[in-house]
Amino acid sequence: MEEDFYQVLGVDRNASGEDIKKAYRKMAMKYHPDRNPGNKEAEQIFKKAAEAYGVLSDPDKKRRYDQYGVDGLRGTEAPGYSSFEDIFDAFGDIFGGGSIFEDFFGGGKGRGRAGRRGASLKCDIEIDFKEVATGVEKKIELTRREVCDTCRGTGAREGTSPVTCPYCKGRGEVQQSQGFFTLRTACPKCHGNGKIIESPCAKCGGSGRYPKKSIISIQIPAGIEDGTRLRLTGQGEPGESGASPGDLYCDIHVTPHPIFKRQENDVLCEVPITFAQAALGCTIDVPTLTGRVIQVKIPKGIQNTEVVPIRGEGFPNVHGYGKGNLLVQVIAEVPTKMTSRQEELLREFAELEKKNVSPRQKNFFEKMKNIFE
Ligand SMILES: [Zn+2]
Ligand SMILES: [Zn+2]
Repeated sequence: MEEDFYQVLGVDRNASGEDIKKAYRKMAMKYHPDRNPGNKEAEQIFKKAAEAYGVLSDPDKKRRYDQYGVDGLRGTEAPGYSSFEDIFDAFGDIFGGGSIFEDFFGGGKGRGRAGRRGASLKCDIEIDFKEVATGVEKKIELTRREVCDTCRGTGAREGTSPVTCPYCKGRGEVQQSQGFFTLRTACPKCHGNGKIIESPCAKCGGSGRYPKKSIISIQIPAGIEDGTRLRLTGQGEPGESGASPGDLYCDIHVTPHPIFKRQENDVLCEVPITFAQAALGCTIDVPTLTGRVIQVKIPKGIQNTEVVPIRGEGFPNVHGYGKGNLLVQVIAEVPTKMTSRQEELLREFAELEKKNVSPRQKNFFEKMKNIFE
């Protein structure tokens, strides 16, 4: 089915040029490849939006499209962009200098017809609490489209080389006159390369790229938080003709722990104790993040959910400044099953309690008295 360019940009048919521009800008930012590395769907939307904007932002094309649909565009330069590079070249101005676009396309360094920056890649890494506590090196397997070693990236069959494009005579761009303006656009035959391949390389089929598995080692710093995205500069796919390679983005996922909960750099651990232990005080064994077991002294008379902090047993600060604490939170359990002897002792205890009211209870009764007086 034919795409409706207005629908693609989410504007209605009477939208002004300014509204169309705004709608495109919003979509381009949202589906920008730098914000969605490796997301094919976002890439498609991004390209479609550019295609729609290419038509609707051009008064002549817009008029033809409005009148005859896509058929009306025949004979004009075909909409559709083979790469992000072309999109940037076409509409970069509406984003302004120094935007995230510049960043994605290598700050202009790798830009230009001759050398396109390599694609950025994304991976996910799962680590556990212990690895967060100590930091860890992870090895991941990645398939990247590397420069084909048979043709050394030229895409031409062994013994041949790419030839100068006859259509643009090697310039990589063609000029088109439109009213007062002369538009320069990428050559449709060579896609701006200035050269075409007559006899493609057998290994890579002329693309100059070949998928290759690589093992990449990633150093994950201690104290890293769940959901952090690490950027490995230059670990994406190689750029064209010496342009800079893309980056590799690694999303770090921390597996939830059965007994620890992270609170900033502190780690909370709930430890059940009996109500007798809470009343009398005790020493309990508590595990730490690194797997050691330490003895923690619980003071006499500790209240339910009260916390005993153990200094320096939390997560290290990800920037290397200090460490959080282990927060031992006691959960004083009220017994539900007792032996008859235990119950007898407890009843005796309760008798004595009547005569010797606890401080909090005393406070409570006094407040209550004030309310009813
Ligand atoms: Zn090749
Ligand atoms: Zn050409």
